[in-house]
Amino acid sequence: MSEKFLANTLQYVERAAKLLDLPSDDLLQLQTPHREVRVELNIRRDDGSIGTFIGFRVQHDDARGPFKGGLRYHPHVDAAEVTALASLMTWKTAVAGVPFGGAKGGVQVDAASLSPGEKQRLTRRFIDGIHDIIGATKDIPAPDVNTNGQVMAWIFDQYTKYHGYEPGVVTGKPVSLGGSEGRAQATGRGCVYATEELLADRGEALAGKTVCIQGFGNVGSWAARDFAAKGARVIGISDITGAYIADEGIDVNAAVAHVTAHQSLEGFPGGEHLPGDTLLTKPCDILVPAALSGVLTKDNAAEVACRYIVEGANGPTDPEADAILAKKGIVVVPDIYANCGGVTVSYFEWSQNMQHFYWDEARVNQELRRVMARGFADLRATANKHRCSLRTAAFVLGLGRVHGATKLRGL
Ligand code: NAD
Repeated sequence: MSEKFLANTLQYVERAAKLLDLPSDDLLQLQTPHREVRVELNIRRDDGSIGTFIGFRVQHDDARGPFKGGLRYHPHVDAAEVTALASLMTWKTAVAGVPFGGAKGGVQVDAASLSPGEKQRLTRRFIDGIHDIIGATKDIPAPDVNTNGQVMAWIFDQYTKYHGYEPGVVTGKPVSLGGSEGRAQATGRGCVYATEELLADRGEALAGKTVCIQGFGNVGSWAARDFAAKGARVIGISDITGAYIADEGIDVNAAVAHVTAHQSLEGFPGGEHLPGDTLLTKPCDILVPAALSGVLTKDNAAEVACRYIVEGANGPTDPEADAILAKKGIVVVPDIYANCGGVTVSYFEWSQNMQHFYWDEARVNQELRRVMARGFADLRATANKHRCSLRTAAFVLGLGRVHGATKLRGL
């Protein structure tokens, strides 16, 4: 599964390299990760036994700035998945135009099986294993699947024990520890801004559009809130417990309150409960996959019945599915642009940490809006120039910028 994700990512990169006429040795240099670290993590479980886990950090490229990328806790985490995600970060930071490279980390663990104390001990052990290769000017982790502001706070604290006060070592921190206003909302909010850019390009408005969102964690739930606040009708949401469908519209705030109270959508009374995958093929205007990679495949792409896909998740669409969707006339706003709001506000957080000067949320949102608008304009111009999809345009843009920086720096 994750080998396929890595192969898919390389395929998208190679397609862009062809359009850019990159020499094969330049491409190999850009594709090869800078450093791959694997650490054994032993923790004392609450019942007195020893839990042994494996953690990964892949630093893909730092030609344009320090390595940057999230940290995921999930049973599917392995070297191939983390490498694919690190590579996507390299192209994403370049598309967003933020001065970072690409990295990703993860621990192979079922996060739901950990008590808060075990999760804290695991996080601190992981930082014991990688503290010497991270830092505000080296490599800056952030939240991803099953990690959040609390996990970032533990990372900050553990790193501080080795290296002293350095809040810029990690982003997505709680605001009270030097986090940025608007960071928690940023990825989902960025997806909504990306959708507005796409619709404006096509002379359409967001108000009244129907939306289905897969995944109701950080990205999905904030996207749902912003879509609803802007007058779109969220008719389907889903999480690991299944899909919840209501054609008249889901009460998004009630769904958020349910998850806050029960940790998942299980038992949410505000929609018909159906198997999770039904959400992906439900007729709607906008589909937002905001859970895991590889969910749109050659097996279900023909049944997808939306007009637009906005990729909140990283790598949700296989290349075979991409081709089927394009034939059906479905426009895909690709992950490395659509979900770059997270890393963009992480950049704002990092630069606030470096200056010890903090912004209000209105300023964060305004700057994020500017980055998303500029990003879409760049994507549109690149797609027009090369007569290609927005996805290929995004990879052309990202690869071109990283290649340019690499050449300028020399070997
Ligand atoms: P999260 O852990 O907060 O939420 C994940 C959600 O997905 C949960 O609701 C979970 O129940 C759901 N889910 C898991 N498996 C599912 C399945 N099989 N079907 C339906 N739902 C399922 O994670 P997140 O931070 O929201 O990340 C979601 C995606 O967005 C990931 O692909 C991540 O890499 C990407 N992303 C996150 C950020 C960020 O800032 N958090 C930034 C960019 C991209």
